Amino acid sequence: MSITCSFCHEKLPSLESCTCESIHYCGEVVPRIRFGEEEYDWGTSRCRSCGTHRGGYHHENCNREICPLCGELIHICDCEVTFDP
Ligand SMILES: [Zn+2]
Ligand SMILES: [Zn+2]
Ligand SMILES: [Zn+2]
Repeated sequence: MSITCSFCHEKLPSLESCTCESIHYCGEVVPRIRFGEEEYDWGTSRCRSCGTHRGGYHHENCNREICPLCGELIHICDCEVTFDP
């Protein structure tokens, strides 16, 4: 079974950055946090979860993406964000 990112339609993991650059929150557009911009350094040149390179955007459902609103991991935080592919 291969997983495809529904934002950019790349097969995951993908070395390419995701094409989705922002999220919507309460009518506002907020830029996503790129891999490598997190406070915590994952210590790898590619995201181990979705495969994106340093400076690239994570792919759909990546469990290492940080929420730009609260700073928590976006898949567990309570912010009601919608991705804007
Ligand atoms: Zn993607
Ligand atoms: Zn990722
Ligand atoms: Zn959040």
